[in-house]
Amino acid sequence: MMPVGGELINWSEDKVQPLEKIKNQIEGKYGKLLPAISIGSGAARVYRVPKLGTKVGFITPISNPFCDGCSKLRLTAEGHIKLCLRTDEEIDAKPVIRNGTDEDLDRFIKKILIEKEISNQKIVSSGYAFSDCRRIMTSIGG
Ligand code: SF4
Repeated sequence: MMPVGGELINWSEDKVQPLEKIKNQIEGKYGKLLPAISIGSGAARVYRVPKLGTKVGFITPISNPFCDGCSKLRLTAEGHIKLCLRTDEEIDAKPVIRNGTDEDLDRFIKKILIEKEISNQKIVSSGYAFSDCRRIMTSIGG
C-alpha cells in the first residue's frame, strides 16, 4: 500500500495490513521467515521462506517506513525529477538536459542528491506524515 494519488484513491489507515500481521500469517502456514539479502529489491525488505525455497519481499511505507534509507529518484514523463512519493515537489530537469554542459549536469545531479537527503530528513522528522502527493502512480512511473 503506497497511498499516493490524493482523493483519487480511496485509502485509510484502517485498511492497511501491518507488516507483522502479514508475516505472522505467512509464518503460520509456511514456517519461520528468515531475513535475506536481495540485491536489486529496492525498498523491499526481503525474507527467505525455506519451506518453499523462495523469497518474499515487503514494502511497508505505512507500518514500517523506510524513508531514512531511501535513495529513490524518479524522472517523470514531463522531465521532472520527483524526489519522493510523499510530496508533489518536483524539480525540472529539462533546462539542464537540453542546454547544460556536462559540468552543469554534474552540478545538477549533486544538487538533486542534496535535495533528496533534505527531503528524507523532513519526512523522518515529520513522523512519516502522509501525504500531499496528488499524482497517481501511473502518472509518475516507478
Ligand atoms: S523517501 Fe519517499 S520515495 Fe522514498 S520510500 Fe519514503 S516515501 Fe517512498
